[in-house]
Amino acid sequence: MKGTYITPELGFISDKPEEPKLSRPEKTYTSRQYFTGEYNQDSELIKEYNFNGIEAQLISAKRGKLAVINHAGFNKFSVCQNCGYTEINTNKSISKHKTPWGQDCTGKRRVFSLGYEYNTDIFQLKFKNSYFGQEKDGYWESVLYGMLEGISQALGIERRDIDGCLYPYTGDPLNPALVFYDTVPGGAGHVERIIKKNNFEKVLKKTKEIVSRCECGGDEGDTSCYGCLRNYSNEYCHNILKRKYVIEFINNLELID
Ligand SMILES: [Zn+2]
Ligand SMILES: [Zn+2]
Repeated sequence: MKGTYITPELGFISDKPEEPKLSRPEKTYTSRQYFTGEYNQDSELIKEYNFNGIEAQLISAKRGKLAVINHAGFNKFSVCQNCGYTEINTNKSISKHKTPWGQDCTGKRRVFSLGYEYNTDIFQLKFKNSYFGQEKDGYWESVLYGMLEGISQALGIERRDIDGCLYPYTGDPLNPALVFYDTVPGGAGHVERIIKKNNFEKVLKKTKEIVSRCECGGDEGDTSCYGCLRNYSNEYCHNILKRKYVIEFINNLELID
């Protein structure tokens, strides 16, 4: 019979072997999410702010497409082109293995990151031609995770229900968009609230409060902790997150005292 077989471990397996079907990423490695830049243009809401010469653009939209990528700690994965057997890449031939039907497999490997895409509500924050000291390592990551705490607490959204990433839409990684999104596929109406009423101001104010009242790193604030910027989902950058960058960022906007 022609058609598609489904197995719990491997997802869809077709009788055309050129498209290897991948097993789910190993749980031991954290996935990272990236914004693809695509979203539903018809749903777009834009708001502009001018903070004493710093021009900010807020863009809220539905059906933003995110890519979830598992790099296996940047080793990537070896995937058998014949049967889809997957293991962490060691830069050697793929291990001896059997096909899902129990036969010895001699397929050749290809190296992949494992990933999938989903759509959700997104909120982007862009700054035009502004300098924030962003050449400092961890500057934008600190601002991103500071604002996520601010959004969560100012708007009463569970932190795990939202997340964020940097999106270098200009091609310049020093001037990325900050992208915030609902973690539930399809979106749950969380981040779309940021652009409404004066919620953005509330978020900035709460963000500053969170990073100012934390005491990690002393007066300098030259680090971060689980009380301000760190959580299990941003372990990849804990060593570069500094609450002082978030304080600098919000002071630059000179919006609030
Ligand atoms: Zn194989
Ligand atoms: Zn802290």
